[in-house]
Amino acid sequence: MLIDTHAHLTWDSFEPDLEAVVQKAADTGLKAIINIGADLESSLKAAQLKSPTSQISFYSTIGLHPHETSKLSNYESIYDNINRLETIYQNYADKVVALGECGLDYYFAGADFTPSTLSQETLIKLQKELFLGQINLAKKLSLPLIIHCRDCWQDIFLPELEGTQGVFHSFTGSSEDAHKALSLGYYLGFSCPITYPKNDALREIIKTTPLDKILTETDCPFLPPQSQRGQRNEPANILEVIKVIAQVKNLSEGEVSHQVFKNATQLFALPSN
Ligand SMILES: [Zn+2]
Repeated sequence: MLIDTHAHLTWDSFEPDLEAVVQKAADTGLKAIINIGADLESSLKAAQLKSPTSQISFYSTIGLHPHETSKLSNYESIYDNINRLETIYQNYADKVVALGECGLDYYFAGADFTPSTLSQETLIKLQKELFLGQINLAKKLSLPLIIHCRDCWQDIFLPELEGTQGVFHSFTGSSEDAHKALSLGYYLGFSCPITYPKNDALREIIKTTPLDKILTETDCPFLPPQSQRGQRNEPANILEVIKVIAQVKNLSEGEVSHQVFKNATQLFALPSN
């Protein structure tokens, strides 16, 4: 029973061969994939995306990535987008299992960042408002949060997160950040970078993170495993994530995948069969 709790199969690069990609995942043992919304368009697309095989269930999320603030330049447009997000949820409530990815991202040079005329100070202020608005929506809809955090660990633990549930996705923070996230009751989502030779610190964190607080994800098409650096990532690679967790924790792959699947069904209220 394997699950990819964070995939972007709505991405253009999957369009030509989505069926084959999902079939390969099914053949690897995946039972479920959660497709992530990162803006209004991908949130709607993820909700509408149908699994090409009965072997794999598709779920989706609604979310606005922090870098959306390069397009949403004032509070009015931020709250207009959050309202539209809620409408997508109302129309696809049976498919949507979480709110996110949302959060903060202070890396203003990445490929996913559209250059903005606003100052970084203003962008950060807007990001915080966008995050806060989505935390409140998650509370209103009783949805867990999928939090994206890059170069912003000093700011991410907003007091409003108290009492919410969720996951820090594609976790790459320090052991102190991991501790804070776990104290909040959150899960840590581990993705293919745990296969990179240089990431010993991350594997140390896996060692000390209770197995019942771990989720597995690929974040595909991004972040391919070491064996496929430079290529398009895909859900079947979740097996590589499981392998590293099993190795590091000295458990069998079966034990790890069984517990991780259980964790995901609990957090996202998925059917357990
Ligand atoms: Zn993502």
